[in-house]
Amino acid sequence: MCFHKQLFQYMMDLVPQIPIIFLIDFLRYFLFAGIAFLIFYIWKHPFQYRKIQEKNAKPSQFRKEFLYSVSSVVVYTSVTLIVFLFRKYGYFKFYERIEDHGWGYLILSTILILGIQDFYFYWTHRLMHTRWLYKRVHKVHHDSVIPSPWTAYSFSPWEALIHSLIMPIVALIFPVHPLALMIFMTFQIIRNVLGHSGYEIFPSWMGTNKILKLVNSNTNHDMHHQSFRYNYGLYTTVWDYLFGTVHPEYEKTFAEITSKKPEKIELQESI
Ligand SMILES: [Zn+2]
Ligand SMILES: [Zn+2]
Repeated sequence: MCFHKQLFQYMMDLVPQIPIIFLIDFLRYFLFAGIAFLIFYIWKHPFQYRKIQEKNAKPSQFRKEFLYSVSSVVVYTSVTLIVFLFRKYGYFKFYERIEDHGWGYLILSTILILGIQDFYFYWTHRLMHTRWLYKRVHKVHHDSVIPSPWTAYSFSPWEALIHSLIMPIVALIFPVHPLALMIFMTFQIIRNVLGHSGYEIFPSWMGTNKILKLVNSNTNHDMHHQSFRYNYGLYTTVWDYLFGTVHPEYEKTFAEITSKKPEKIELQESI
């Protein structure tokens, strides 16, 4: 079969998968952002006294974030389809049978994907904060100065494209199993939704422990939305500490928020 006919055939084979890929990506976002929204914004949850910013986001912001997130899912779906297409030509190192590389490799490769994404996110994020790219690519995400769970995928289509490239990049470097991708995608949305939740859930001792303070907190990313500078990290603060981009007030702010006591709030309210 000639190249064009074969390409057309491959594309037609992918058509039935379009709604499935879209729905998986969309439901992943909607489910986790929805659960976080219910817990933090509807339900009287136990972390109320841990609110990072005093003000609340407006409902009109939630709608805008949701619509941009749907557009991001369209971009993710498109990238996945292109990857699937090129996979047919042997460009990506996906494998189906876990036995081919074993469970140990599956776990290690999942951790490696998250590690590479952490590094990739830090540098692409810093780049997006340069004047030219900020206006054209990253501003949409920063319109949410008070982030909410719905901010998780609220990106311009260009920014969504940059984030989605992590999947083809890792699949070009080493063999990736779909289960590793699923775990990675679930982990990233949970972390992403929590980082934008507007509440801190981590214990105070994490901020003083030399190792655990390298885990990114919700306060850390929330401060990024407030200051527009500093705290560019995703899962860890490793790169921020290494390259001197941790917010000067971060450790103090984290300590203040996590040292609040619920009783104090109740006392203040009853006075
Ligand atoms: Zn940013
Ligand atoms: Zn953000």
